[in-house]
Amino acid sequence: MSAGIETTKREELVSTNPATGEEVGRVAITSSEEVREALERSRRAFEIWQRTPFSQRKRIVMRARRVILEEMDSIAKTISEEMGKPIAEAHSTEIAPVLDLMQYFAKRTEKMLRPEKRPIGLLGLMGRHSRIVYKPVGVVGIIPAWNFPFSIPLGEVVMAIMAGNSVVLKPSELTPLTGNKIAEVFEIAQLPKDVLQIVHGAGETGAALVESGPDKIMFTGSVATGKKIAAAAAENLTSVVLELGGKDPMIVFDDADLDKASSAAVWGAFTNAGQACASVERLYVHKKVADSFTRMVVEKTKKLRVGDGREESTDIGAMSSERQAAIVDDHIESFHQDGAKILTGGNRKKGLLFEPTVIDGADNSMRAMKEETFGPTLPIAEFENEDEAIDLANDTEFGLTASVWTKDISKGKRVAEKILAGSVMVNEVVYTHGIGQTPWGGFKNSGYGRTHGKEGLMELVVPQHVHVNRFTITPDIWWFGYSKNAIETFKEMSRTFSSGSIIKTIPFLPRMYKRLRELMKK
Ligand code: NAD
Repeated sequence: MSAGIETTKREELVSTNPATGEEVGRVAITSSEEVREALERSRRAFEIWQRTPFSQRKRIVMRARRVILEEMDSIAKTISEEMGKPIAEAHSTEIAPVLDLMQYFAKRTEKMLRPEKRPIGLLGLMGRHSRIVYKPVGVVGIIPAWNFPFSIPLGEVVMAIMAGNSVVLKPSELTPLTGNKIAEVFEIAQLPKDVLQIVHGAGETGAALVESGPDKIMFTGSVATGKKIAAAAAENLTSVVLELGGKDPMIVFDDADLDKASSAAVWGAFTNAGQACASVERLYVHKKVADSFTRMVVEKTKKLRVGDGREESTDIGAMSSERQAAIVDDHIESFHQDGAKILTGGNRKKGLLFEPTVIDGADNSMRAMKEETFGPTLPIAEFENEDEAIDLANDTEFGLTASVWTKDISKGKRVAEKILAGSVMVNEVVYTHGIGQTPWGGFKNSGYGRTHGKEGLMELVVPQHVHVNRFTITPDIWWFGYSKNAIETFKEMSRTFSSGSIIKTIPFLPRMYKRLRELMKK
């Protein structure tokens, strides 16, 4: 059992502040049977909710948004107390971005899901037309991690309900009270009962939610759990979006603005105590500027204030759990054993307060350069040319985000497109999850499917093709009544009609007519 969470005999989760060990609050654990019941209620709520007009969904989401604005201090406090992040980051990396996402999907979902006419080539000239209608998937099960306990699940809830789905959300066992805040906000905003329900517990409760058979699962967490969920979801053929881990590279070319790049590296590696899936976990700097760049990184890192997240001046809060801190201990030791040099940090200050740690002389052969750390470490390695930098960045099982630093924007874009990651930034780090308008998701072991953007919205709907033939006087030439003439007609059809060209198809018309007469005589 990790710090930050305890299970009592009364089947409760006790949420504690990782900076102090103090209890923040407790919630009852939902049994598997109760999870199944929640899913059934959700299905009933969906039947009604899917028919509500977009205008009503928008009103409720915008009301929820206003509630968050009014309650932002208390929400930020809960996030910080329960998860450990600085109060400043609860505002800047959770509340502000998700409010933007809320207004965007409240206002745009209707347009993005508007039924669309799809051109169907020459069939369209034969009295037929096709329309694509986007229907909500049904009940969406959301299983998030603890590191952005407000913005990640809330963003997914908003997109799901705007698309007409109902939701059962199981917050991480480390952040149940933040999960409850999400429910409270929607209750005040008068979201109809059971359109959003919260169930509480650890992995068992998550597994019960998967087994209960929702129509879609939005999962954020580790690769190991993602694999278990994908396997369990396959039993019900439930489709899954997996937002998994990362080992995200940052490349600093010799023409980069080194002052900006070093500040970005420090923020990118240590924000959220390094517990962001998009954290900079591998830094590759051009050999020519490596010494001066590394010096700047170390100087800036030494100025960071580590402490209780509730203090306004804290830059780096407590890590969220002993399990996570132990991985950081192990990786720092592993770097040390492999011959890398710890330039600053390397130790726990107290409990789960970890010093931000800069490591020099790292290379891709080291174990800690391969496994996700998810903590406040910044290992630095060198490269000599563009191709080498790209190869080093791609030499990983993960592919979530990456960052390229150069004043030459065309070089930046050229390199970005060669990196196998879901989101690649030029002269930026980490923050693209905060852009709700663009797709978010990984390549390789960082997962599949997308959240955010139109692509994320499409995960929450099923496209239905409605095809109409207005011209019903004649049968279709491919219907029964096969003959030698039929086969010759179909061969000719392949040669002409299937080309998609009207000109090529004109000579086919007499044969088509002959086939029609043959069919109509029968
Ligand atoms: P985790 O996999 O331990 O847990 C994630 C969630 O899954 C929790 O709610 C947990 O209770 C639940 N769970 C655990 N076992 C389960 C099971 N068998 N069935 C169903 N649910 C189960 O991950 P974590 O420690 O909470 O989060 C850290 C990981 O999340 C890191 O790897 C990080 O990179 C990743 N992450 C990814 C993104 C992204 O967008 N790609 C964002 C944030 C975090």
